[in-house]
Amino acid sequence: MIDTHCHLADEVFEVDLDAVVGRARAAGLTSTICILAAGDQAETRRAERVRQLWPEAAFAVGVHPHQAHQCAGQAGRAESWIRQGVSEGRVCAVGEIGLDYHYDFSPRDVQQTVFAEQLHCARAMHLPVVIHTREADQDAFAMLVTEGAGVAGVFHCFTGGIARARRALDLGFHLSLAGIVTFPKAIELHEVAAFVPEDRLLIETDSPFLAPVPYRGKRNEPAWVVNVADRLATLRGVPRSAVLARTTENALQLFGAQAFARVDTPRASML
Ligand SMILES: [Zn+2]
Ligand SMILES: [Zn+2]
Repeated sequence: MIDTHCHLADEVFEVDLDAVVGRARAAGLTSTICILAAGDQAETRRAERVRQLWPEAAFAVGVHPHQAHQCAGQAGRAESWIRQGVSEGRVCAVGEIGLDYHYDFSPRDVQQTVFAEQLHCARAMHLPVVIHTREADQDAFAMLVTEGAGVAGVFHCFTGGIARARRALDLGFHLSLAGIVTFPKAIELHEVAAFVPEDRLLIETDSPFLAPVPYRGKRNEPAWVVNVADRLATLRGVPRSAVLARTTENALQLFGAQAFARVDTPRASML
């Protein structure tokens, strides 16, 4: 079982990261993908502790659309941050990247420029992408066609209905479902959960955000990806074990099995 999207290097996990990782392992998780904000020195430092505590963890690095303004007028900055992150090791994807017109924390033209640069970078580095898009479908899908041709990846924390899912699937993308699928009112998403072809399905928590039922409102953590898997199993009419086996296999295929192989850093083996 792999939580394919969490923010374990976020400062909210600093106080009890060892316990959070311990609970994830006890719940049966073999690994995770820890999303890092490219160019964020503090998060990069905290990621080192994630590496030590969880030697199987993989990482993704990218400039989130909320932070795209940090690269405004700075062509090449996002790419150099990503390459720096990759040099620190165990990076299996570029992400999360995309467009977010809900909050508009960065001007839209800046978001688009930075998104395009990172799609090109992912293609050059032969890495898949982790897509974050909100209220920006028209531009996001168009850019994946024009700027991201040939790039594989996942729509993380997928929301919406069958028509939207079909568009993402038609581009060859995987869909990753998070805690929202456990919410009783997410009817459209329940339909999507039953509809996604089994070879395109991934699961995630997006911890510390979006805790699933019955933990809504709490700080989310990777162990609770089990609750997402349980809901998916019910909606798809298959056993939980089938969801876990298939989503794990899909993660290994998309991100590369070597990304999740245990690597002991010298300090990790001393812990
Ligand atoms: Zn996101
Ligand atoms: Zn995220």
